[in-house]
Order: sequence, then structure tokens, then C-alpha cells
Amino acid sequence: MADPAQTPAAPPPAVEFHRVNKWYGTFQVLRDVNLTVRQGERIVVCGPSGSGKSTLIRCINRLEEHHEGRIVVDGIELTAELRNIEAVRRDVGMVFQQFNLFPHLTVLENCTLAPVWVRRMPRAEAERLAMRYLERVRIPEQAHKYPGQLSGGQQQRVAIARSLCMSPRIMLFDEPTSALDPEMVKEVLDTMVSLAEDGMTMLCVTHEMGFAREIADRVVFADGGEIVEVATPAEFFGNPRHERTRAFLGQIL
Ligand code: ADP
Ligand code: MG
Repeated sequence: MADPAQTPAAPPPAVEFHRVNKWYGTFQVLRDVNLTVRQGERIVVCGPSGSGKSTLIRCINRLEEHHEGRIVVDGIELTAELRNIEAVRRDVGMVFQQFNLFPHLTVLENCTLAPVWVRRMPRAEAERLAMRYLERVRIPEQAHKYPGQLSGGQQQRVAIARSLCMSPRIMLFDEPTSALDPEMVKEVLDTMVSLAEDGMTMLCVTHEMGFAREIADRVVFADGGEIVEVATPAEFFGNPRHERTRAFLGQIL
């Protein structure tokens, strides 16, 4: 029989929500949310506008604070404890609909800023790392340009590379292709697919259902602040259980 002392402890789930509630004033935006995301799992979150998707994923790196229940990220519970919040933020990268690049810094400087100033990484090392990730998102030749000189799709790929430079274990995406012209959506989705294939734990809010079918392990459907349905893409698209899910899919597909 295996000696328990010799068996390495199983890693904690990447993200756990236990009965989470949150309000904006008197408006309840999250209602009794329960969700466990395993290490390496790819989750797509979808649902109507205003259903609480952004709030849900922003709670994971404490850009928003929950009021009831527990959120645990890589085994660290998010409480008012600043040390825990900082530890969680070291683990979690986030990419937004608006790319949020610094317009007065070059692409390379955008990517090295946090590693140099937050992680105290020597500049030469930070630049090597940044170039590696810019190659990864296939725009190394843009390193010395400013964000305003790039297309939207290129800027979003810079935002992804910049996030990767902080070596996150979990990546959050909040509608990363919604602000892009249609011809640029694919290049960003391709980058996300390649991250997913590398085993990154990902939570993506997106209505790109082709992407969901291709890489999601599970699809989460949110409506009115509740998680209405969690299913594999095959079940979700082929046999949605809830009327609200069917109505939503009927509108977007
Ligand atoms: P989604 O991303 O699904 O569109 P959000 O999480 O952004 O949903 O918002 C859910 C609801 O909460 C919306 O009705 C929105 O207007 C409201 N809301 C979002 N942020 C705030 C805020 N800071 N203060 C008050 N209400 C907010
Ligand atoms: Mg949103």
C-alpha cells in the first residue's frame, strides 16, 4: 500500500467558488455561484449582456470584491488579507476587451515594465523573455513600435504576451475579441488556442462559439448573476438542458 507520507499532495483546484454572492449597491450581481476549475482546465463563460460574466472573472484576481461565500485560487483564499491578494495576482493574468496597453511605451517596454518594476528582473533578462513571448504571439518584428502603430489584433496579441511575461498559472480573458474588426478575430483566437494547447488554465468570457467547441473542456452559461448550466461543449451545444440556455443559443448561433 502506498505510504501517504510519500504520496505528493494533489494540487488544489485552480479556482473554487463556494456559494459566492455579490451586490452592486442593492443590485445582486452574483447569486450563489459555485464553480470548481481544475488545473489546466479551459472554461468558456457565456451569457447575455449584464449577466455578471465580467464580475465573475474579475473576482478571481480581486478587481472586484465578493461579499459572501469563498473564492480560493490555487489554494489561496481571497480575503481582505493583502498578502493573499498579492499572491493570487502573481498567479493570474488578465486580458481585457480594451487592450489597456500604455500608449507612450513601445511594445517591448509594455512587456518588460512589470517584470522589471514588480519582479525586479534584470532588464536584459526581461527583454529576452518579452521577445520570446512576442515570437510566441508571432509579432516579434513589432517590438520597437508604439501601440498606436499596430492593428487591434496585434495590440491584443501584445496584451497577451505582456501578461505571459509575468508567468501566470491562470489566464482570464474578458471578451478579448469583441473590440476587434472581424478580420482580426482569428489571429487572436489562434493565439488563445495555442495557449490552451500548452495546458494553460484559462477562463474565457467570449461569444466565439467556434472557439468554445474547439478548446473548452466545459462551457459555463450565466444568466441574471446565476450559473444556469455547466456542460461539455458537446452537451452544451448538442443538448442544452435549460430553457434559458436554449433561448440564448437560439439568439447567437
Ligand atoms: P456582463 O459582463 O455579463 O455583461 P457585468 O458583470 O459587467 O456583466 O455586469 C452585470 C451587471 O452589473 C450589469 O447590470 C451591470 O450594469 C452591473 N454593474 C457592473 N459593474 C457595476 C458597478 N461597478 N456598479 C454598479 N453596477 C455594475
Ligand atoms: Mg462583460
